[in-house]
Amino acid sequence: MSQTIAVLKGDGIGPEIMDATLRVLDALDCGLTYEFFDAGLTALENHGTLIPAETLEAIEKHRIALKGPLTTPVGKGFSSINVQLRRHFDLYANVRPAISFPGTRSRYDDIDLITVRENTEGAYLSEGQSITDDGDTALSTIRVTRQGSERIVRYAFELARQRGRKKVTAVHKANIIKTSSGLFLDVAREVAGDYPEIEFQEMIVDNACMQLVMNPQQFDVIVTTNLFGDILSDLCAGLVGGLGLAPGANIGADAAIFEAVHGSAPDIAGRKIANPCALLLAAADMLDHLDMVDKGARVRGAIREVLDSAREQVTPDMGGSGTTDTFADALVAHLQR
Ligand code: ATP
Ligand code: MG
Repeated sequence: MSQTIAVLKGDGIGPEIMDATLRVLDALDCGLTYEFFDAGLTALENHGTLIPAETLEAIEKHRIALKGPLTTPVGKGFSSINVQLRRHFDLYANVRPAISFPGTRSRYDDIDLITVRENTEGAYLSEGQSITDDGDTALSTIRVTRQGSERIVRYAFELARQRGRKKVTAVHKANIIKTSSGLFLDVAREVAGDYPEIEFQEMIVDNACMQLVMNPQQFDVIVTTNLFGDILSDLCAGLVGGLGLAPGANIGADAAIFEAVHGSAPDIAGRKIANPCALLLAAADMLDHLDMVDKGARVRGAIREVLDSAREQVTPDMGGSGTTDTFADALVAHLQR
């Protein structure tokens, strides 16, 4: 069976790292067909809009997109493209794996966890925000729903089940924010009952931060509300050496978009020194999502191997003297061995 995916090369280093990523995917014989669409600055130049209708239609049709970094022009009244895509497709789960790789500067070398962040409600609401006329008092609303909590916790448990993970930790602040965080925790407990084979753990967010810094190996899958997830997922990226190797996915019932967490890096665009690994790891997660878990694992294994043994071929940010292309060459060579 052949699966078609929508590919958005994106802006800045996007085309360079996407070409490298697709070369590596091709070496795996995944049976994927790519259709290419514009978004971001490139789309603004070619179509007069940041997200052309045909790009949205393609994502809707194929349900899977691999996306390079997109630039939202600042100060011209454009709203963030990533936010627009998230709203349009109701991409409620933001999934951010944090995995240790050799040769990265970090405190630990044995971390393998996934943060699952609720992405549509919580403290990130455009309504319910106000400030008094004198400017002295500001009010923000947090909205948590049973339905929103249930689908994110269920997603986390299903992910754990599919990836053979052993534990899901729900991170909350129900002791203080009794209503909204309390509802999230109640629902998490209920959903956990449907997955007796997976250990369920609850942890208050402040303790979770300390535990992540002191003993991160205890975590497997973390599920949490929007704001805590925003903070914890970057904390976890920092634990494994920063954004250089950080993939992310935004997942909804009808569409899933896989991407690198880093931006378009205009400072190095066109110089062929961009590290393709974050996007490639996003592609590996896409393969997992498409039930090609063995192929996803091969991608991660190849990255590990090349970072370990072909240092001169990797990009300067990883301490090598290679280019985006020599990095991809090394990965392809490893996969074809
Ligand atoms: P944007 O405006 O698209 O968010 P940015 O420059 O603000 O771009 P990033 O693209 O996240 O932010 O880049 C931050 C720094 O990290 C830059 O110096 C960039 O060169 C570097 N960087 C980001 N991604 C990569 C990569 N894949 N390989 C090497 N360096 C990178
Ligand atoms: Mg940025």
